[in-house]
Amino acid sequence: MQIYILKPPNFGAMEEKSRFFSQTPAWLVTKHGKYETIASALNGVHGLEIKLAPEIDTDVLGTFSGEIERLDSPLETARKKALLAAQRLDAQLVLASEGSFGPHPSAFFLPADMELLILVDVKRQLEWTAEVVSTKTNFDRVRVRTVRELLDFARRVMFPSHALIVHNGDGQGGIVKGITEESKLLDCFRLAAAANGNGVDVETDMRAHFNPSRMSVISEAAHKLAQKLSISCSVCECPGFAPVKHHSGLPCSWCGTPTRLPFLSTWACQLCSYHEDRPFGETEKADPGQCDVCNP
Ligand SMILES: [Zn+2]
Ligand SMILES: [Zn+2]
Repeated sequence: MQIYILKPPNFGAMEEKSRFFSQTPAWLVTKHGKYETIASALNGVHGLEIKLAPEIDTDVLGTFSGEIERLDSPLETARKKALLAAQRLDAQLVLASEGSFGPHPSAFFLPADMELLILVDVKRQLEWTAEVVSTKTNFDRVRVRTVRELLDFARRVMFPSHALIVHNGDGQGGIVKGITEESKLLDCFRLAAAANGNGVDVETDMRAHFNPSRMSVISEAAHKLAQKLSISCSVCECPGFAPVKHHSGLPCSWCGTPTRLPFLSTWACQLCSYHEDRPFGETEKADPGQCDVCNP
C-alpha cells in the first residue's frame, strides 16, 4: 500500500457547518479501550457523534496473540468488522480500527505498528480510511532462559507501563496476558520454565489499553482521519475529497523536459463524480539531476 503524507490543505478547510454525519451516530467497534482516543479526535467533524458499540465478538476475525490466524489484510479485516457491526446493530455509520505489527514496510530492520481506521456509511455506500505506520512501538518477542534475560527484555520493552504476555505462563500450556507487575511476571516465568526446559517465550502485549505507545499511534490515525474528512467536495460537500492518483512529469528546471517525479494529483469525490487535477506538491520544477536529458 502506498503511504504518502497529505500536505495541509489550503482549500476547502474544515467545514464547521457541514452536518454530513449528523443524522445518525457512528458506532465504534472496539474492545480495548480505544474509545476516548478515537472519539476525541473525530467528534464534531461534519457533525460526527461517535458512540461505543455494545460488545460484538470480532475475535472470529482474528486475535492478536495468534490463537485465530488472520487471513485478510488489515484493511479487509477492519472493513469486515465494521460491516459485521453495522449488521448486528442495524446501524448506518460504523467505525472500526485495526492494528498490525511487523517489520516496517520500507525499513524492515525496524519493528512497526500499523494502525488503520475505517469509517463506513452503509446506506450511502461510502468509506473513509486513514493509516499510520509508526516505528514508535515496543513490539517484540523473545525466548528467555534466565530471570536476568527476562528482566533485561522487560526493561527494553518499557515494562511495566507496557504489559507483557508469557507463553505457558500458567504452567499448563496456556498463555498469560496483560502482566503489569514484576512479581506476577516472575511467577509466570517460573511456572513456564518448570514446564518447559527449552526456555520461555515472552512477548509484548499489543492490546491498546495495555500499550500506551500503540494508543498514541491510534490517536495519530484518528487525527489523520479527521484531517482527511475535513476536506469536502466543492460540488456535493461529501467529506474526504482526496487525491486518488498521482501523475509524473514534473518539468526539469533547466530544459523543461517532463521527469518521472510526480507533477499532478487527481482529486476525486466518492459520492458524486466530480474530480480535478491539482499540483502534487509545492515544487514546480525538478532538479536537473532527475532529468533524463540533462543527466542521462
Ligand atoms: Zn533537463
Ligand atoms: Zn461530490
